Amino acid sequence: MRMKMNIVCRDELARITSIDKRLTPNIFFISTQHIMHPEFADFILESNIVSSNNIEIVLEEKEDEIECPLVTPLGFPEAEFKNHKLTVADRRKYKGNGDTLVILPYGRQIFENPSLFVDKILSIRRRIGWEKLFYIPGIGSPMSYALLAYMGIDFFDSLNAIVAARRGELLFPIGSYSINELEEIPCSCPACRASKTFSFQDILQHNYYMIYQELKLVRNAIRLGKIRELVEQRVRVKPHLISILRFFDRKGFKEIEKYVPLVKSNSFLVLTEDSFNRVEVKRFQQRVIDRYIKPRNPSILLLLPCSYRKPYSFSPSHRRFNSILQQLDNRYILHEVIVTSPIGVVPRELELVYPVANYDIPVTGVWSDDEEKMIQGLLKKYLEKNRYKDVVLYLPEELRRITSEVIRNPIIVGSKENLTSKKTLDKLLEVLKDLTEKYNYVSYDERRLEDMRSFLSYQFGKEIADVLIRKSTIKGRYPNLRIISNGKQIGMLTGERGFVSLTLEGAERLASTGRYYVEIDRDFKLKGSVFAPGVISADQDIRIGDEVCIMQDDKLCAVGVAKMPGEDMVLYQHGEAVNVRHRI
Ligand SMILES: [Zn+2]
Repeated sequence: MRMKMNIVCRDELARITSIDKRLTPNIFFISTQHIMHPEFADFILESNIVSSNNIEIVLEEKEDEIECPLVTPLGFPEAEFKNHKLTVADRRKYKGNGDTLVILPYGRQIFENPSLFVDKILSIRRRIGWEKLFYIPGIGSPMSYALLAYMGIDFFDSLNAIVAARRGELLFPIGSYSINELEEIPCSCPACRASKTFSFQDILQHNYYMIYQELKLVRNAIRLGKIRELVEQRVRVKPHLISILRFFDRKGFKEIEKYVPLVKSNSFLVLTEDSFNRVEVKRFQQRVIDRYIKPRNPSILLLLPCSYRKPYSFSPSHRRFNSILQQLDNRYILHEVIVTSPIGVVPRELELVYPVANYDIPVTGVWSDDEEKMIQGLLKKYLEKNRYKDVVLYLPEELRRITSEVIRNPIIVGSKENLTSKKTLDKLLEVLKDLTEKYNYVSYDERRLEDMRSFLSYQFGKEIADVLIRKSTIKGRYPNLRIISNGKQIGMLTGERGFVSLTLEGAERLASTGRYYVEIDRDFKLKGSVFAPGVISADQDIRIGDEVCIMQDDKLCAVGVAKMPGEDMVLYQHGEAVNVRHRI
């Protein structure tokens, strides 16, 4: 019987799929004459057949097979695996289906070489896509399940648990320990509680409990949208795993980027230096440089530090800064930009966007060389594209030094004092008063519209921003702002989502640009969501969380939020493609 799988949920490249009610990521528990699989096993690997109650995956095809003997590592009784073979299903026969299992037979050997391992996984995925189930025999332990699932691997097996037990090693997510070196057993699983002698069988049972427990932890992390955080914690136990993550971040950036949502309500935790390489950070920086354009009317740039509480505007320090700006007659001539790590340069209008609105980083006030280079590089590029007549720095000492190296003739306010003290704030007020009076007056309404245009340039690009904002005014109270044109609402920025949601009127405008479109089959009756099989074509730039216009017979029929990348909407055989907000 062939497997029928459904993707239940996704977190970046990791996903939970359901195969006849059993979930992946999962473990194939090896079962032989001498080694029993645990009773909680969902999948049992026996000879070359994986069985799971009423489903059976035959890992063998007569034609074009790649034979794969399960490796028999040192100290492992060879006899038990004598007839143990895995073979790869014939790809030509199953092409185009989402329900085959792809196996990388020699994964265990190349796992030892992080760069090669990452290359191999990426090259296979680039060929077969990211939908199919993927199994690498012989690798995986509680330390690496999170990382492997993060790389889109769906199945592991129990080989390492058995090998470790043979060596007398207890597996834990934080490492493996020989039974002889443990004065106390740091585990309360049924096997450890019951055992006095810690025989091979006892240790094996412990290892089974451990791998199963970690597996469930990994699946929960995927459900909660926190797989990346778990990965960064788990890889810390082995430099080898850190290498794999770093190679994957670098070489697989394009692939990961496709699956990282633009909108997310989770906190974005900066835990390690690897957090700096996360797609969310890099993509935000890229979009600020490539897409974003500053509001046209301000002539003065005011650089400010970030705050612990997000969004910045709602923090005590930024409230104080704001109370100063409110005293200026011409405050809208100023453009506030926040300088922060790891995100870089954040124009005030973008403070509601994920991950700016929800990142959490340990603050020490000390900047590493990498952070210094990052800030300077971004600021330089930002200022090449976005011009100001004057630049005012209101920053802590260290940041002031870093930024002033790349800004010509900055006006510096505050020396070593606390930036929220009355004395320093008064000085800021004095400087800004003189400076802002030199420039033509900018009104609140003009500026609000320009700020929205800048926001939209980040979300959609400059051309679409101009179309959406045409003949419009902005109503509402920050952070919830409505774009109104001819008495009709075009869209709304909400603080909660940190993105502009479009109405049908807004979608008409978006559709006129020929971008962010999802074309559905003319026979598809649109009721609730749009599902992938109904999609004929879609803009390849669409990412999860993007606003999209749904077209049928060249006419707009609905607007909604993308639930998968545009590319997959066309390729996938199942799954929700667009969550519809309004339809005609
Ligand atoms: Zn135990």
